[in-house]
Amino acid sequence: MRNPRVVILGAGYGGIMTAVKLQKMVGTNEVDITLVNKHDYHYQTTWLHENSAGTLHHDQTRIPIKDVVDFNKVNFVQDTVESIDPKSQKVQLENGELEYDYLVVGLGFETATFGIKGLEENALMISNINNARLIREHLEYNFSRYNNEPEKRDDLITIAVGGAGFTGMEFVGELANRVPELCNEYDIPREKVRILTIEAGPTALAGFDEELVEYAMNRLEAKGVEFLIGTPVKEATEDGIIVEKDGQEEEIKTKNFIWAAGVKANSIVAESGFEVNRGKVEVRDDMRAPDYDNVFVVGDCALIMNEETGRPYPPTAQIAMQEAEVIAHNLKALVRGSNELESFEFNNRGTVASLGSRDAIGVVFGDKKLYGWTASAMKKIIDNRYLLKLGGIGLLLKKGKFNFFH
Ligand code: FAD
Repeated sequence: MRNPRVVILGAGYGGIMTAVKLQKMVGTNEVDITLVNKHDYHYQTTWLHENSAGTLHHDQTRIPIKDVVDFNKVNFVQDTVESIDPKSQKVQLENGELEYDYLVVGLGFETATFGIKGLEENALMISNINNARLIREHLEYNFSRYNNEPEKRDDLITIAVGGAGFTGMEFVGELANRVPELCNEYDIPREKVRILTIEAGPTALAGFDEELVEYAMNRLEAKGVEFLIGTPVKEATEDGIIVEKDGQEEEIKTKNFIWAAGVKANSIVAESGFEVNRGKVEVRDDMRAPDYDNVFVVGDCALIMNEETGRPYPPTAQIAMQEAEVIAHNLKALVRGSNELESFEFNNRGTVASLGSRDAIGVVFGDKKLYGWTASAMKKIIDNRYLLKLGGIGLLLKKGKFNFFH
């Protein structure tokens, strides 16, 4: 009799943690595990804002899959998933096809553009290593052009960031540190450069503690960041963006528009015929899809309701990792013929948002508020803990962030 085949799609926080946990729980002679991912590395989205601003090299953010996954126990396939057919238990890849007995869908997120005209064509997005590198180079190139044009063009050194949520605020925090360096490098007076944060909603960092939001905005404004709150982006063009302010449309000329205002689940999930709610699979307590007993969904592709608030838990790396542990346990039970499956329960360990070098805000241990250097150090500690969990002390020493004074 052949071994049951477990196929894990995506090596993000959810997928790679499922693979790493499962490889430790089962023997090679009892299950065939296959992990599929577009790239031969896993990347930590939690540092992409720094890679995009150019304050952290992307090699500090990505981890070769071979460094954490045991290739004697897991068959790694570098390929792109095109579709899933849960009825025939097949996955279509760009370069082949896989059959499974158990599937884990961890294909992560896509940028949400909310149908805004011209956004896909004209905005840069912070969502993976490739586009983080592009943003870094794009900004540097436009700064380098400034003193090479016959006329000084402000649009080259105006940076507009769409969205003052978590990602947008972390990114402008880094820009506030990076821009003075770029100004020095390319002989541009700092006061000529504009960093704009444009938010449609009534506040930055919606859902965060008000006192912390005020702290964050004050700190960033002191570093020259301008906020346009209650100001939806209506259109992105080759020359800039059109926003709506007090009922009037206004054009902001910029060659640097970065959209950081929202994510949605990978569209492959809805296109593959799973029952979806807001584009995600509303999983059962044991993390399985409602309509398939052999399909688990993890991370940003999964939806879990928070009974207390009546709203879904926000998509975070933290929840994806916790879900992965339950999935690995439940896969082990199923391949061993047991039906004793664990239920997922979210353990909120808190949230920290960085505001550039040595500054951040956060809420941890339930309701403890953190500001400044302590919050910034906490972000690094949380990240180091993740590295330790994923790849042990070796990975922590290689990729850990130990410079708590930076
Ligand atoms: P992902 O981590 O997105 O991984 C999906 C994987 O699937 C990737 O490796 C991708 O390459 C691969 N993939 C996608 N499509 C295909 C395909 N068709 N074929 C093959 N492979 C594919 N959360 C926090 O908790 N703390 C933070 O500080 C934080 N900061 C963030 C900053 C940014 C800029 C962003 C965008 C998100 C941030 N988040 C943060 C949210 C967090 O990153 C996500 O919730 C988390 O990445 C979800 O994990 P996942 O496993 O579902 O998917």
